[in-house]
Amino acid sequence: MVHAEGVRKHFGKLQVLKGIDLTVERGQVCCLLGPSGSGKSTFLRCINHLEKIDGGRLSVDGEPVGHRPQGTRLHELREREVAARRRDIGMVFQRFNLFPHMTALENVMEAPVKVAGATRDRARDEARALLDQVGLADREGHYPAELSGGQQQRVAIARALAMKPKLMLFDEPTSALDPELVGDVLDVMRRLADDGMTMVVVTHEIGFAREVADLAVFMDEGVVVESGDPRRVLAEPEQERTRAFLSKVL
Ligand code: ADP
Ligand code: MG
Repeated sequence: MVHAEGVRKHFGKLQVLKGIDLTVERGQVCCLLGPSGSGKSTFLRCINHLEKIDGGRLSVDGEPVGHRPQGTRLHELREREVAARRRDIGMVFQRFNLFPHMTALENVMEAPVKVAGATRDRARDEARALLDQVGLADREGHYPAELSGGQQQRVAIARALAMKPKLMLFDEPTSALDPELVGDVLDVMRRLADDGMTMVVVTHEIGFAREVADLAVFMDEGVVVESGDPRRVLAEPEQERTRAFLSKVL
């Protein structure tokens, strides 16, 4: 579902990704770990077409990312193509970025109606089912300000799922939450993984990575330091840098 080979990205003189190799199979959960500034968010943004890669190869479900699709010349066409591909990818950020003037239900309905052209009735039914799936059936009429951080984040997950993505990206989805709210969000993610969703999750939740991930990837300074079975990488890391990081977050 995600295939990266030697992916490079720089901002000015700063090399942020220095040749990332990564393969995530359909249905797998990949947890990306690593210190702040190691390039984790940048890599997710590249996967989601929010940044263009400078070198290497990157593809999602066999479709190249960050390359001009063959046969297209018009700028406009290319943007339309990128927009179409981005619809297949759901993303959840650290800060819940819900529309503040819309209820939970309206937030989840928004993209299906505005972007995908669903009827309001259909979108409402599906949004209700998704809010139920994230345990918020009784909060559909609440505005984001009336919800806890954990509830907002679960609405954000439901909103991303409303576009029926084939890949979900999570960028530290629980880092901004009060500790007692983290578990509910992780439970929703765990169920999503159990249902077979392909996920790339940047997280410092080592327990979640160990229990849910099929693949743990430790990044530092723009390179993959080590990767593999989370039970090995997280319990018996081979690299000193991984050991040092884990001793700080555990
Ligand atoms: P992480 O998510 O692992 O903390 P990031 O991908 O956010 O790391 O950042 C990696 C490095 O790239 C950092 O040094 C950060 O300051 C830099 N960076 C990220 N985005 C930009 C940008 N748009 N312009 C310039 N530098 C950036
Ligand atoms: Mg980050």
